[in-house]
Order: sequence, then structure tokens, then C-alpha cells
Amino acid sequence: MPRPFVVGNWKMHKTVAEARALATAVRDGVRDFGDIDVAVAPPFTALAAVGEILKGSEVGLAGQTMHEAGKGAFTGEISPAMLRDAGCSHVILGHSERRHLFGETDQAVMKKARAALDHSLTPILCVGETLQERETSRTFDVVERQTEHALRHVTPEEAARSVVAYEPVWAIGTGKTASPEQAQEVHIFIRKLVARSHGDGVARAIRILYGGSVKPDNASSLIAEPDVDGALVGGACLEAPSFLGIVAASRT
Ligand code: PEP
Repeated sequence: MPRPFVVGNWKMHKTVAEARALATAVRDGVRDFGDIDVAVAPPFTALAAVGEILKGSEVGLAGQTMHEAGKGAFTGEISPAMLRDAGCSHVILGHSERRHLFGETDQAVMKKARAALDHSLTPILCVGETLQERETSRTFDVVERQTEHALRHVTPEEAARSVVAYEPVWAIGTGKTASPEQAQEVHIFIRKLVARSHGDGVARAIRILYGGSVKPDNASSLIAEPDVDGALVGGACLEAPSFLGIVAASRT
């Protein structure tokens, strides 16, 4: 069983001072949880400050998105090397808000995954269907297309240490969580896709997180599913007690 992993996506929340306070509380709160990996993804403006606080701690630092180019005239974007420079170990790629609000395509996620790995950043590759896609029985087609693109140029060794996050779009920020059974059937489907593309050993090693209205009171039933290896958390990661509650509930 892969070691559980819980990631907090702070999205466009927290000033630098607020981010420092939350990062300190998370760092101190997970200190005794030796059996789980934890990372936080603050907004770009707070990465360096949070990176200082987390340096030498158990908590990883993640970017929320990234451009695939090394440098250049890309106003508003951030490069893999800049994320590394700020202390990041991980980067969230293809989050549904990037895909649906900012037009990020499967091709873009594919290039970004390659660029992240080239810069020693672990990609957290988000996939998931919209409500309309679920209601028209396209969940598996969408998840297959997104997963296949995201891992297309990733070697088996790299895929084994990458992370996939299944985030049904209808469950993000809506308070509607996929049932543990709904999550499990998509997670095992993703694991089989990875087995087909990268081999059984990689499929066993890759971590597949669930995201979509995870809260302290539903985290343990989701993580209890055999193919759910942790959680990508939005709203409930903005306050230390609820995020730490999810981390505690995700320890196996
Ligand atoms: C997310 O945005 O990745 C997410 C899972 O958000 P929430 O937990 O708020 O649904």
C-alpha cells in the first residue's frame, strides 16, 4: 500500500501573514504524524514565506500550477525553476479550475508534467469529470483521456513517484462528496490504466488521491477504500484544525 498523502490547495486565499500563520500551525500539527505525507499549495505570493517556515519539516510545498517553459515572455506565469527556487517539491497540474476557467488542455497538462519532472518537481495530476459528463456516462472516457495524456511522456520510474488526483468536478467546492464506492470505482479504473501504460509495479506504487469536498468527517471512509491513497483538499484546508483533522483521519 502506498503511504497516504494529503495535500491542501489554498487556491486564491491567504495574504502572506495569514499564510505564515496557517503554515506554522500545519507544520507544528503534523509533527508527530510520522506515517503520512503532507503538502500545502499556497498562492504564489506566499510560496517563499511558507517555504521558509516549512524548511526542514515534514510538510512539502507545492505550486498550484506552472508554465512548461523554462523562461520567457509569458506574463503572469511561473516556471518550474521558479517553483523549485521558492522551495517547492510538488506542483498541482490540470486542476479542474485551470482546465475549465482558464482553458488548460490535455496537451498543456502533458507538457507541464514533463517539465515538472525535468525540474525534479513531483506532479499532482488532476483528472475528473463534470456533472454533465457523469450524467451522460462519460466519466471513464474523460478520466482515461486526461490520465493518458498526463502520463504520456512520463517514464515508468517517474510515473511511480507521480501522483494522480481524481477530482470529480461536481464535488469540488460544492459540499457534494463522491461516495466511497464512487471514488473507489474510478480509482481502480485509473490504477488499471496505469498498469496498462506503465506496468503493474508502477500501478501499485503511484498514489491516487481523491479530491472533492473532503472534510474531517468523511476522510476516513474515503481513505478506507483500497485504491484511495489520500486526499487533495480545497475548502477544508484553509483552517488548520479541519486540515489537521483530515490528515489525522487519513492515517492508515
Ligand atoms: C480542490 O479544489 O482541489 C478541492 C478538492 O476543493 P474542495 O475540497 O473545496 O472541494
